[in-house]
Amino acid sequence: GRGAAMVTAVALRLAAQRREVEEVLGPLRLTHADLEKVQALMREEMERGLGKETNPTASVRMLPTYVCRTPDGTERGDFLALDLGGTNFRVLVVRVTEDGISMASEIYVIPASIMQGTGEALFDHIIDCVIDFQMKQNLVTQMLPLGFTFSFPCEQVGLDKALLLTWTKGFSASGCVGQDVVQLLREAAKRKQHLGMQVVALVNDTVGTMMACGYDDPKCEIGLIVGTGTNACYMEEMRNVGLVEGDQGRMCINMEWGAFGDNGCLDHLFTDFDKVVDETTINPGKQRFEKLISGMYLGEIVRQILLVMVDKQLLFQGRPCPKLQTRNIFQTKFLSTIELNGLALRQIRAILNELELDASFEDSVLMREVCQAVALRAAQLCAAGLAAVVEKMRENRGLEELSVTVGVDGTLYKLHPRFSDNLQKTLKELAPNCNVTFMLSEDGSGKGAALVAAVANTTANAME
Ligand code: BGC
Ligand code: MG
Repeated sequence: GRGAAMVTAVALRLAAQRREVEEVLGPLRLTHADLEKVQALMREEMERGLGKETNPTASVRMLPTYVCRTPDGTERGDFLALDLGGTNFRVLVVRVTEDGISMASEIYVIPASIMQGTGEALFDHIIDCVIDFQMKQNLVTQMLPLGFTFSFPCEQVGLDKALLLTWTKGFSASGCVGQDVVQLLREAAKRKQHLGMQVVALVNDTVGTMMACGYDDPKCEIGLIVGTGTNACYMEEMRNVGLVEGDQGRMCINMEWGAFGDNGCLDHLFTDFDKVVDETTINPGKQRFEKLISGMYLGEIVRQILLVMVDKQLLFQGRPCPKLQTRNIFQTKFLSTIELNGLALRQIRAILNELELDASFEDSVLMREVCQAVALRAAQLCAAGLAAVVEKMRENRGLEELSVTVGVDGTLYKLHPRFSDNLQKTLKELAPNCNVTFMLSEDGSGKGAALVAAVANTTANAME
């Protein structure tokens, strides 16, 4: 009768909708073969980055860090540390003693106007924060060695000399690219007549994280960040590092894998959503891999998908949704909460209402599905990158099986309920001969910078 006809009509409509949703999300769903290809491409770019001749044209820069070993527990001393380039700017004092590491820290805000103003203003601001911190911590009269965690690509010439290659993640302070960042910091200190500072090492956050975890676990020879941006570092054999003389031992390589694909090698992977997101950033065409993975961009990808879904009348019953035009309304925290296990639809709806998105239950289900697809792809791509790294390390060392620990940090990795599971599961599939343990780093960037400074110290002492 009529009832049955109506039920059929509804079922047909739903089936048609499902097909359309799948059409929109299809390009984000990666097969095992897709991921193997990404892994192989990453491996290729790594080799090109390591080779002296091929380095200039590689999208993965494979930057030498001059960190040649992880901590062995004999490091001692008091250090200042700065951590710039993540979600927060922090100043820390780190005490490395026989009994372990203790520290105190303060978070300081870097207003967008300073991130995107002049380099002088940025480094002046940093020194102001250091001075404030030293006063609060009663450290004004001590000249502590300082380790600077600076989470941007730098060409290092030594531990305390690092030329900024490019800004990422929304920073664009003028007059810094091509300059020695340590020098910029020292000059700002001079301008502020702040003499109680001695910068001894500049460290990428991946390296800081590896070192911090390496202090507790000697098997930790990889550092991974999945936060505002993404990147990895690992211990490479010196004989493979074409940019630095010498064949003995190992050196930590800051991969700068966020730029993977900037030479076009991942073009087959980018969806229309990814392209729009890339085009609306302040660095279009750059950090293409990062823009598929890290916290600064996932919410924007989700937003682009939702806009298309509204357009196709799959969401909000086709009603226009002006609020969706707002850039960055979906933060990492949103993507993380929406995937929380056991989170009731009612709660999702409440979260959406808070964002002034008037979503029905059906809308809420769909939005969760979109977030899931975007976050899953991010974790899988990250795993493909990591698979290339661990497989290379295994081959380097001529091992049947490699056992290694990855030190990890970053808001997305820490906050998202599925990211690490998805990452580990995919990694196991892509690199079955590697036994990889993940170790969350607590305050890794600051701790790590201090440890690099300390290791530099013990190495220097040993050479005297
Ligand atoms: C930077 C890297 C950094 C990563 C994670 C990227 O945008 O280029 O140097 O390690 O973000 O913070
Ligand atoms: Mg950080």
